[in-house]
Amino acid sequence: MSASRPWYEVEPEAPALTDEERAAAEAERERRRAKNRHDRKVKDARADKLRDDLLAILAPEGLCAKCGIKPYQYLLQIDHVNGRQGWQPRDYDRVTRYKRYWKEYEAGVELRALCDGCNGGHLNNRNRKRK
Ligand SMILES: [Zn+2]
Repeated sequence: MSASRPWYEVEPEAPALTDEERAAAEAERERRRAKNRHDRKVKDARADKLRDDLLAILAPEGLCAKCGIKPYQYLLQIDHVNGRQGWQPRDYDRVTRYKRYWKEYEAGVELRALCDGCNGGHLNNRNRKRK
């Protein structure tokens, strides 16, 4: 092999993976996927608990603060009576968001639980204008 040949001609081909190496790589990928699934589950459960604990205070009967209906628990949403102060729910993941609601609640910010309809129906129609 001449040294004057370009690198891509001189570069030896990557050795093929053995069956064991391939299996090990696949096992590693699966391990990582399982960990991600697990982490997501833990995070979801944590967010659910933060939300449910706060809703249990805001709406112990599970009723909407405006129309008084009792929607399914997950349809009750936390609403700022006087508007959110400079942040958007989409700016944070669920855990951070509910921690933020908690912080605001503890700081005396007025919060209430609304059904999806009274809260603008974001769940059913994200593009509808808020009344
Ligand atoms: Zn309502």
